[in-house]
Amino acid sequence: MGKKSRRANRRQRKNNSPSQPNHRSRGTEDFLHFSDEVENFARALLNVQTAQWAYEESAHDVDLPMPLREILSVDIQTLLGPLEEMEWAYSYIEADGPTPAKTARGANWTAPIIPGILSHLAEIAGDSDLPFREQANQNGLKDREITERKNLEATAHCPRGAECKVRRVTWPGRDLGPACWRHVTDDEKTELSLIYDSAVTELECRGCHASPGKQCTEDTPRMTRIDGYYSPIRSFNKRKVHRVRLSDYAETLAGQR
Ligand SMILES: [Zn+2]
Ligand SMILES: [Zn+2]
Repeated sequence: MGKKSRRANRRQRKNNSPSQPNHRSRGTEDFLHFSDEVENFARALLNVQTAQWAYEESAHDVDLPMPLREILSVDIQTLLGPLEEMEWAYSYIEADGPTPAKTARGANWTAPIIPGILSHLAEIAGDSDLPFREQANQNGLKDREITERKNLEATAHCPRGAECKVRRVTWPGRDLGPACWRHVTDDEKTELSLIYDSAVTELECRGCHASPGKQCTEDTPRMTRIDGYYSPIRSFNKRKVHRVRLSDYAETLAGQR
């Protein structure tokens, strides 16, 4: 594409871009400022390259040292291409473009998002999907809950034993197990082993798709994300079960009460 038509295109896009942000997006003003400066830089770079080209073509007594010669090899398009993608992304967000909660492969996303992922989400979006900002808020909340839960599990050390630093066991239906695997009582050990076994016997695993009676496996290309995330394996007393299978089982128990 020639210089002129590229500039004309940019002017055209500028008119479509969010010059009057309605605050559906975060960072629009700062982005527009940044985008202007990159354009100024690109224009200046073009002038430098033109002058340098003229110098090199002319008869001259002093050769250009290497770092200066390298200016010619900087490709303005490598800056402007991504800038255009960002401009598109902000326009989409400002226009409340429908944005699915997950990617086609079921992955949760959070803001800030890279333009390539947003463009993928826009492609698979349906009319019932929420506007970007609302969906981003929901996804952010979900992500924070999962992080907090992970932190809780990682930091809630076993309360039994002298300064035992081992994680508590995962007990389906409870936020935290009573103790670590070494400090649960014999009764608790029997009860929890039975829960892990029953989850395997009675339910299919929605994570690894092991059918009822089959053990969970980490070695499958068929792992399915649950609510945007891969379910981790939980081990107890030589049993290994995906957490989602355990929580599904806890729900069936709660339903029976
Ligand atoms: Zn312990
Ligand atoms: Zn499983």
